[in-house]
Amino acid sequence: MNLPDGVVIHGREPRAGGAEWTERYRAAVMNTFGDPQRVLVRGEGCRVWDADGNRYLDLLAGIAVNALGHAHPVIVEAVTRQLQTLGHISNFFASGPQIELAERLLALLDAPGRVFFANSGTEANEAAFKATRRTGRTTIVAAEGSFHGRTMGALALTSKAAYREPFEPLPGEVRWVPYGDEDALTEAVDETVAAVILEPIQGEAGVVDPPEGYLAAARRITAEHGALLWFDEVQTGMGRTGSWFGHDNSGVRPDLVTLAKGLGGGIPIGACVALGDAGTLLGPGHHGTTFGGNPVATAAALAVIATIEDEGLLEAARNRGDQIADGLGRHPRVAAVTGAGLLRGVVLTEPRSAEVQSAALDAGLIVNAPRPDRLRLTPPLILSEDEAADAIRTLSTVLDEVMA
Ligand SMILES: *Cc1c(COP(=O)(O)O)cnc(C)c1O
Repeated sequence: MNLPDGVVIHGREPRAGGAEWTERYRAAVMNTFGDPQRVLVRGEGCRVWDADGNRYLDLLAGIAVNALGHAHPVIVEAVTRQLQTLGHISNFFASGPQIELAERLLALLDAPGRVFFANSGTEANEAAFKATRRTGRTTIVAAEGSFHGRTMGALALTSKAAYREPFEPLPGEVRWVPYGDEDALTEAVDETVAAVILEPIQGEAGVVDPPEGYLAAARRITAEHGALLWFDEVQTGMGRTGSWFGHDNSGVRPDLVTLAKGLGGGIPIGACVALGDAGTLLGPGHHGTTFGGNPVATAAALAVIATIEDEGLLEAARNRGDQIADGLGRHPRVAAVTGAGLLRGVVLTEPRSAEVQSAALDAGLIVNAPRPDRLRLTPPLILSEDEAADAIRTLSTVLDEVMA
């Protein structure tokens, strides 16, 4: 590519160091996230580099998004080729990649149904939320500890008071139940309930596993009362847990499955998959989007799915996940390792996750601290055995130092 003299592609040839970028960030970018931990300029595989030239092993992967790591040639090729062919068309028109992706998702879920494409997790959930309204019922049962997104509808189903309260009143009549409590669910669901929404493993809560049989109980209880069962698989979906979906081993067929994060491997895309009869709840004029399902995003998602299959990344995610759980589980400062595959919570013996996260970053390791006593690890599914060993070593040393 020939650029005129003096023209710089931003992000590739940073003109400033991290401190200067951060100052400019503060002045120009809305302060909804606080200061960035670092300003990043480049990524390759499971590594990223910051504006000061430091290298990191990325165990966060854009919060469970970069399933194939950074700059994976298959995604770059798929996106580039699609953009050179047909980039955006609106939903007055259809494209091959969109139709193929809908078919692939239904095949992976092994059920007939219909897919609505969006651009994010929260939007996938808005589509599902609107679909539930078409049952003629308005009450939703949601779980304590849940996270479903930041738009008004998804926020109404998100339990954290600090996220919700500044924006009330929020839509919907929502009944809250403790996550994993089958009796509470039995109590909460009646003939007025449109849907029960659950994460197969709670992600933002710090990777919280449900008790054995909970998802199956939720299916039984919702079926008894004619309510929909809605799994938010935005974080657990698309291979993250070592199977295509977090609910795969439950033997349950839900009515609604929402997807986003890992689906596009870094290209923004979300999907609301409605199975069986739920597939026709939304009809012409009921919902829409300008960008959702565009050819570039759907081509990226098809490339991600093909690569997960071709490179055996479901099995790899299980193996690397076991390696990490074994390796870190031995550390005296680790009380337990939760989750499945490469969605892992590291429960610390003391609530010092913020210090650990910050020290890990200084040591070249990106981890996340979703709550005071837990770290969350969501590395790319392509994480190698050596990289996982490296991560265990570095994090163990950090735990030794911080929690001595
Ligand atoms: C991240 C997340 C969302 C929201 O996705 P966005 O793309 O940030 O809107 C919804 N549900 C779950 C389970 C998530 O982890």
